[in-house]
Amino acid sequence: MKVLVINAGSSSLKYQFFESDTGEVLAKGGAERIALDDSTITHTRLGEEKISIDVDLPDHKEAMEQVLAMLTDPEHGVIHSMMEIDAVGHRVVHGGEKFSGSALITPSVKAAIRVCIPLAPLHNPPNLTGIEACEAAMPGVPQVAVFDTAFHQTMKPKAYMYALPYALYEEFRIRRYGFHGTSHRYVAERAAEMLGRPLEELKIVTCHLGNGSSIAAVKNGKCMDTSMGLTPLAGICMGTRCGDIDPAIVTFLMEKEGLDMKGIDALMNKKSGVLGVSGVSSDFRDLEDAAAHGNDRARLAMDIFCYQCRKYIGAYAAAMGGVDAVVFTAGIGENNSNVRRDSIRGLEFLGLAIDDSANDGLRGVAMDLSAPGSTAKVLIIPTNEELAIARETQKIVSVAANPEG
Ligand code: AMP
Repeated sequence: MKVLVINAGSSSLKYQFFESDTGEVLAKGGAERIALDDSTITHTRLGEEKISIDVDLPDHKEAMEQVLAMLTDPEHGVIHSMMEIDAVGHRVVHGGEKFSGSALITPSVKAAIRVCIPLAPLHNPPNLTGIEACEAAMPGVPQVAVFDTAFHQTMKPKAYMYALPYALYEEFRIRRYGFHGTSHRYVAERAAEMLGRPLEELKIVTCHLGNGSSIAAVKNGKCMDTSMGLTPLAGICMGTRCGDIDPAIVTFLMEKEGLDMKGIDALMNKKSGVLGVSGVSSDFRDLEDAAAHGNDRARLAMDIFCYQCRKYIGAYAAAMGGVDAVVFTAGIGENNSNVRRDSIRGLEFLGLAIDDSANDGLRGVAMDLSAPGSTAKVLIIPTNEELAIARETQKIVSVAANPEG
């Protein structure tokens, strides 16, 4: 099945076009700076150089039409006509409590995504715009929504409820939702394959460590707990996000610094995290460079990050009653051997230990880093959210076409 995967942001629209049976990426690219000056379309066909063209993109619909024009272009395209696209899979950030799995897009599914806008005001509106642009450009092609929150819907109330007045949950649905669910699920499934054991009998801590980072406890294939909360600001500290802090800091700072809601929001989301502590960068490559040149705050920022990862791994091992494997994924998890080593250090009492030469070895491939004799495994598994979305889309469309199975 040929599946187009779309990840629409406020001014961008990224795509990957899959042969979902084999997982082959036939083409990928995106539209940048939609509705702004200097907008571009990029496109890379399997095994070829990336091309980039400047083109006026007044809105997402035009961006979608330009993407389709690239896919069907006689010189650079991969299909003869749009009719060869079997389905479209959309990344949708927030599905609230309504979606514990992916959904074929219908007017009522769109309405439910709209209801979740207050929970993800920066993400759900462009996700909906992307869906509507595809509907307009490809009428009749089935579209599927794959939610970042869905995998975490198996959490029990004791894990997802905050100790706030219960009426706030009833009125506003304030609770932990969790994010990066497509990635946590994908790497947990891959981990079970690597270990040669059924997912249903494993206790796995999945560490999605990138510019945004979250950690999840996956017990018997189901999410039991996760570090992000109502929003992706919670959990371990991140590139520019503060993660878990004493909530009283918010009112303290609003008073002392005269910050309004926008000001405090920007401080916690954009000026904090390892950028805020180091004053150097949100990127771990820059932090490692700076620390190697004696910058103590860059060192401190990375120490905080790794210490928080270690605490979450320990906490989730306790929550699950043990741990069979810890998985590292995403930009930092896959590429930064120091973060992996420092996050696992001291967890030998849980049976976790890293083999240093494996840890410093190959990149970009799934690998077992565990030291010989350790009873629990430490794995690197490159995440692939787009492929996971393509496979989900194929599954949902096939079930819809043949509901009897
Ligand atoms: P992500 O949000 O998953 O793209 O991850 C971004 C983070 O991953 C940044 O802090 C980078 O320092 C780190 N990262 C991404 N690629 C590499 C790489 N090839 N080598 C080292 N760090 C990387």
